[in-house]
Amino acid sequence: PPTRKSKIDLKKTRLHMSIQEKLFTFYRKHVAIPPTEQSIAKQAALDICAELRNYIHHKFPDMQLREMHLSGSLYDDLQVVRADHIQLMVPLLMEKNLWSCVPGEETILNLPGFCLIRRENVEYFPRGSSYWDRCVVGGYLCPKSVIATFEKVVSGSINWPAIGSILGYVIRPVVPSESLILEVQYEEDRRLFIDFLPLVVLEEHAAVAKAHRLPRYGNMWRLSQRGAETAALMGRDQHDSGCRCLCLKILKAICHYNLQLSHLTASHLTNILLHTCEKESDWSHGVLADRFLQVLRETVGHLEKGELPSAMDPKVDLFFRTHRRGD
Ligand code: GDP
Repeated sequence: PPTRKSKIDLKKTRLHMSIQEKLFTFYRKHVAIPPTEQSIAKQAALDICAELRNYIHHKFPDMQLREMHLSGSLYDDLQVVRADHIQLMVPLLMEKNLWSCVPGEETILNLPGFCLIRRENVEYFPRGSSYWDRCVVGGYLCPKSVIATFEKVVSGSINWPAIGSILGYVIRPVVPSESLILEVQYEEDRRLFIDFLPLVVLEEHAAVAKAHRLPRYGNMWRLSQRGAETAALMGRDQHDSGCRCLCLKILKAICHYNLQLSHLTASHLTNILLHTCEKESDWSHGVLADRFLQVLRETVGHLEKGELPSAMDPKVDLFFRTHRRGD
């Protein structure tokens, strides 16, 4: 006859089986985006990116840019629920001897994970030598000013209704908005938001014009970690056919559906998963439920502590909060 212990074990196994089944069902029904929806949205983004490149190239030939390209979860097959947003990376062409990157922790603001872009050699190359000098404020390249420069081009001078009607979309800039966003209606009830993200690459640093929540850091650029974090997670899955990305997508969807959890971003969740990867080696699909519960516990742990060190750079606290006691 079964012992008491084996009965409990059996119950536990059944419970895990049912969590496992529920997770897969939830994924199929509420998380995964149908492939056709994904490809139509991507195509709309590609069309608009091509159109914009063309336009800027012809109308603003002196604007110092590298090739604009798309990026983000829609591109990496990590988007959930709806195919409705993507980033359009706008890399600025920076003259090597005119600009340098000052890591945030070396500045008076002491903010790891961010940096300042300093204008160098003004004595030899006076203001105006670089196209981007127009966006320099107090000796540093100002992300807001770069965004405003694009805004003038993108919202102010392009005839989006005309381009939209040629491409078969309704395109309008989103105003008012903190950053530069285009809303593209590509079907009666389907919208895609394209978020312009200016990007600066200097030596080993890449930084994006995505501001910190606090206005006092307004002149700083955010060091771009998304590519490295995502590649690390996807690489591990590819290596052992693991369920890390699946787990990430389920968690992203849960945060999407629950307003209180919406402060947890893809970046937070990816980093928590990467930390959990350091502790656990088995990520086969059969243990999805266990890993999922473990990542939940880790998440609660980080929230209780109020800190989440970045997996790429432990100096960076991804939960860095505004109002510490006594602050
Ligand atoms: P999701 O949109 O929640 O699925 O998350 P993503 O993984 O696509 O991340 C997009 C978010 O990260 C946007 O808010 C971006 O502004 C921000 N972000 C910060 N740095 C980067 C970067 O280097 N590349 C991209 N694509 N997004 C970045």
